[in-house]
Amino acid sequence: MNIEKIYKDANAYLKGHFLLSSGKHTEYYLQSAKVLENPLLAKKLAKKLAKIITKAKIEADVVCAPAIGGILAGYELARALKIRSFFTERVGGEMALRRGFEVKKGEKFIICEDIITTGGSALESAKIIEELGGEVVAFAALANRGFCSRYGTNTSPKIECKLPNNVPFFTLDDFSFEIYDKENCPLCKTGSKAIKPGSRNN
Ligand code: ZN
Repeated sequence: MNIEKIYKDANAYLKGHFLLSSGKHTEYYLQSAKVLENPLLAKKLAKKLAKIITKAKIEADVVCAPAIGGILAGYELARALKIRSFFTERVGGEMALRRGFEVKKGEKFIICEDIITTGGSALESAKIIEELGGEVVAFAALANRGFCSRYGTNTSPKIECKLPNNVPFFTLDDFSFEIYDKENCPLCKTGSKAIKPGSRNN
């Protein structure tokens, strides 16, 4: 399965000047929503991810995804694993669990994103689950932007990666795009302005 080709074919592999949720800037952005607008493709990708997770003997009760980006990937992953699925969402900037979603003590969770960049939102979701008595047994994403180290490889995570070292991270592919602090962004230096992906038709 060629994830890069799937993203390119879906016009989901964007080039420009983007502002990430971490506040960093980047020239390339993976707009997973464009891939996941095709439910059959979403199903196929999630099935493959589920297979990798099952092969690693990870068992879970629930997939939890940070909204909005993670919801579709998380839902399809849960379908493939035949377990529950819900999501955390930001309320005034803070990640929260709402809508009556429940964590039972000792339940095992997979935190699923569409893309893991630094893993900041995934980590915030994991903290909520743990505070409520759940156990996070894995992180998962359709694609990894190359900062965190995926299960089965022996590369070290980069300093930007926020995922814990002692919990496996499963993904279908690695991409390595540079990200920049605003102050050092070469794209900003050309006078262009970073835009939030999802705005202005991207
Ligand atoms: Zn910039």
